[in-house]
Amino acid sequence: MTCLECHKELSYIDHKNSMELFDVELCKKHYDRLLRLNKRHKTSLQAIRLYYGLKEAGENPMLAWWDGKKSVDIALPRVKLNVEIDHEPHLYSHKRAMEELEEAMHSMNDGFTTLRIPHMLIAEKMRETVQDILQIKAGLQQSQQVI
Ligand SMILES: [Zn+2]
Repeated sequence: MTCLECHKELSYIDHKNSMELFDVELCKKHYDRLLRLNKRHKTSLQAIRLYYGLKEAGENPMLAWWDGKKSVDIALPRVKLNVEIDHEPHLYSHKRAMEELEEAMHSMNDGFTTLRIPHMLIAEKMRETVQDILQIKAGLQQSQQVI
């Protein structure tokens, strides 16, 4: 049992706490850091889980990434891919949906692709979700090389 971030050996209690909350192995220092991120930036547990899922797949994602205008849940800046986790879509107002559409449009104008992933998918199909994101990334890499 070692920390996924710094590879420090974990105590039983550190392991238990981080597995219970984030479903990943983290030392006290990195657990506290995520907890702050979770509170301050409202970074969701699903975003944190997906971040580590991508990391485990060998990617180098950014968590709560500031794109210059807004905070993005997860970003792969090298291929200009933003990933936003959607929560409770049935609670969306028209206003919120419109704002998101416009945000996506602005990002697209800046050359960014925005993926919106329902949080249920991360809870139930993490592995497949990570694989799909990797495929989208590969596709983006190809098209960006062509340009
Ligand atoms: Zn650590």
